[in-house]
Amino acid sequence: MEEVRVFPLTCAVQNYAWGKIGLDSEVAKLVVGGDPLAVIEGDKPYAELWMGAHPKGDAQIKDNRIAQTTLGQWIAHYPACLGSKVKDAFQGQLPFLFKVLSVNTALSIQAHPNKELAATLHAQFPEHYPDNNHKPEMAIALTRFQGLCGFRPVDEILGFLQAVPEFHALVGWDAAEELRSSVGDEVRTGRALKKCFTKMMSCEKKVFVDELNELVKRVTQEGAAGKDTSSSNGDLLLRLHSQYPGDIGCFSIYFLNYVVLEPGQAMFLGANEPHAYIYGDCIECMACSDNTVRAGLTRKYIDVNTLCEMLNYKPASASSKIFPCVSDPTDPCVTLYDPPVPDFTVMKIQVPASVKDYTVASVDSASILLVIEGDATATSTAAFSDVTMTRGGVLFVSANESVSLHVMSQSGMTLFRACSLL
Ligand SMILES: [Zn+2]
Repeated sequence: MEEVRVFPLTCAVQNYAWGKIGLDSEVAKLVVGGDPLAVIEGDKPYAELWMGAHPKGDAQIKDNRIAQTTLGQWIAHYPACLGSKVKDAFQGQLPFLFKVLSVNTALSIQAHPNKELAATLHAQFPEHYPDNNHKPEMAIALTRFQGLCGFRPVDEILGFLQAVPEFHALVGWDAAEELRSSVGDEVRTGRALKKCFTKMMSCEKKVFVDELNELVKRVTQEGAAGKDTSSSNGDLLLRLHSQYPGDIGCFSIYFLNYVVLEPGQAMFLGANEPHAYIYGDCIECMACSDNTVRAGLTRKYIDVNTLCEMLNYKPASASSKIFPCVSDPTDPCVTLYDPPVPDFTVMKIQVPASVKDYTVASVDSASILLVIEGDATATSTAAFSDVTMTRGGVLFVSANESVSLHVMSQSGMTLFRACSLL
């Protein structure tokens, strides 16, 4: 039997507590679309869909004519499927994990180390840092997507220090003054910002819980009296506090940009960039790693020293956090989200209603293809037989194989593809 190099996958669902519930979740909708027999429980969270070979969620091969049952097992058997450059650069492993996220309540504020720091942390504290790899991430909004990302411009932080005395109390007079007087001097500002953030993160729990309760009480009363609480970022504060009462992360909204992505917009989270996802559905792609340093909105371990040392203290506007995507010069249907790391690139493929036959071009990398909208019959010389691709359908495509789509839906088709363009 000749070798099959293109096949459909059944992907792992993660039911983390922060996920959207039942069919409100884009993840659940995609699961049902890909498998009409799948049972979605109406009161259960459907947080993440994992499309890849990660040992905690290795995709199942949806074709019992193939001897291996999971994608990870299959790649271990046929590493050439990765493409020769990817295979050599990433030691025979698929370098990325492709996901869909449906976020109902905020995920922890976090940052991921660069490769050098990851190796050091893993050697010192393997219980907190499980591997030696970096973890750059890209989030592309499917629905309006809210998050926190990077330090705000200094004038915004100074504005909150003035308007929110409870926040000022945690940062302290000296550090706040240092930040105020640093304006205009980038190096001094970075240092002062680090001092301010470290002061806040190192506060004793009793101190910050008292200040937080005071702040929540004040903002609630102001809101009830019909006052505008935007100078205290009141709505977001109350929302996060209701999800994580007494958590230091509630104060981080005064340091970090609140970023809202419209569908199709993306944010790239490079090394040491503080970030959190708050609400919405997105496509996510990341390097294969579990290294996360947390800064709040969590019940997990917070490593304050590592966190405060590693962060990127470069203030910048919320709009500058939106990652510029570009249209592929060789294919008008493709939008490229190509971050400055070799591990992954994401492509959005939009086949217009007027096009009935579309070829997913071959690339010199294994790739994973996900249907978000539309139906097609997929044909490839490297597949056993034609594959019906509907919303939620996932296809593994080996390096240097192309796939022909015969589009059945009247309104065209939208797909996302992850690969590694070294
Ligand atoms: Zn992250």
